[in-house]
Amino acid sequence: MDNKTMMQYFEWYLPDNGLLWRKIINNAQGLKDAGINMIWLPPSYKGASGKSSVGYDVYDTYDLGEFDQKGSVSTKYGTRQDYLQAVKTLKENNIQVITDIVLNHMMGADACEQVTVTEDDSSNRERCISDSFEISAWTKFDFPGRNGKYSKKVWDASNFSGTDWDNDSKRNGIFLFEGKNWNKETDQENVNYDYLMGADLDTDNKDTVKAVTDWGKWYYDTVEMDGLRLDAVKHISFDFYKNWLKNIRQHAGKELFAVGEYWAREVDKMTHYLDVVDNSMSLFDVTLHYSFLRAATSNGNFDMSTLFADSLVKARPDNAVTFVDNHDTQPGQALYSFIPEWFKTSAYALILLHKDGIPCIFYGDYYGIVHDHVKPVEGLRKLIKIREKYAYGEQIDYFDNCNQVGFTRLGDEEHPNSGLALIVTDETAGTKRMKVGKQFSGKNFYDALGHINSPVTIDEEGFGEFMVIDGSVSVWLVEEAYDEMFLYE
Ligand code: CA
Repeated sequence: MDNKTMMQYFEWYLPDNGLLWRKIINNAQGLKDAGINMIWLPPSYKGASGKSSVGYDVYDTYDLGEFDQKGSVSTKYGTRQDYLQAVKTLKENNIQVITDIVLNHMMGADACEQVTVTEDDSSNRERCISDSFEISAWTKFDFPGRNGKYSKKVWDASNFSGTDWDNDSKRNGIFLFEGKNWNKETDQENVNYDYLMGADLDTDNKDTVKAVTDWGKWYYDTVEMDGLRLDAVKHISFDFYKNWLKNIRQHAGKELFAVGEYWAREVDKMTHYLDVVDNSMSLFDVTLHYSFLRAATSNGNFDMSTLFADSLVKARPDNAVTFVDNHDTQPGQALYSFIPEWFKTSAYALILLHKDGIPCIFYGDYYGIVHDHVKPVEGLRKLIKIREKYAYGEQIDYFDNCNQVGFTRLGDEEHPNSGLALIVTDETAGTKRMKVGKQFSGKNFYDALGHINSPVTIDEEGFGEFMVIDGSVSVWLVEEAYDEMFLYE
């Protein structure tokens, strides 16, 4: 079987031109040829900020760019018709479609309601700091522009647990609605991190759960996606997605792939969540992202032998989606932690050629980010192709040195000329004796990234003395494979 390679097909600062779905239709074949076989699309429904909404300020999940709501028919990415055509085109090109599901909060309500609340300490959400009082809350969602098409469900304060804005006093705070509790099991940052933004969905309320389950079934029937990317799972009762996913998968009659966004710097939090949801999804490997960031920002003093030590892909190899950056970590965004350019190729080589985890390539790294003058990552397209054709077989790790580390893949019979050696350093040049297998004895290996021009000859034991230059990465392929890479330049 061939390797899976995912791509996140958006970044934060795409133009508000309604053309992303069209771009996908035009590029689907090219993406498949490049070696990408899964694409994560941004939220496809109308956000509170209309045509400029990236998609996480959810207004109406039934409006896929079809109704004149929030100032336009189209979303930032296009119309419903274009969206469904993009999904169809991707599938025709054997690319799996992963849709973005945002069920933690809603924003941009059609009207306010008077709601009795108590205010909580923003750094300890279990600590009440006021008596009961009334606020004017944006919680009434009637969707007049849609007028009941697809669903008659309208939302009011009973569907939510709390909000952060009083429209009477024009004041921010963490406001918990009377008779409600924050979800008991969520992330423990701020003691209880149920509340993130907007009107927070009350997943202890049966009517709310029914509404989002009905919607999930409708969305599957409409879109027929292959998988789901679940937003902000640490802010939602941990048992919610276990049940919701079960329902949607049962309805779809297939095992939809799912990956959750659990933003945590501690791998234990992620493994705990996976345990609670019975491993019914994968999670993005956030700890590996931060490990890359430390390696890239420690002036060569990072201990490269620990690169994967606290990663999710090490702890749960079958439940990790590895990534280098995303729309939240890019410059100007909430979780800004963009991996510096000099280490980017190294980080991508490490996730793309590794035997475990599904690597996810960021749009901004593939195409660049015009808004911030970020260039496409050097060597990325080549690495995707190397993954598709040669990154197979057993992996031998050589994380045995604080400067130069690497791994080899021994190849398999199904993929001709597969097998490789990767060596990377955050500091000085060096060599490493690594095994690629006796089938390569006497053969020459070449650095496909072109950082080193001289070959490495494999000895009788199947080992080579592989090289890397200062602060760099080299990916060594057998000469037949190296020659074939010429086709993809
Ligand atoms: Ca929540």
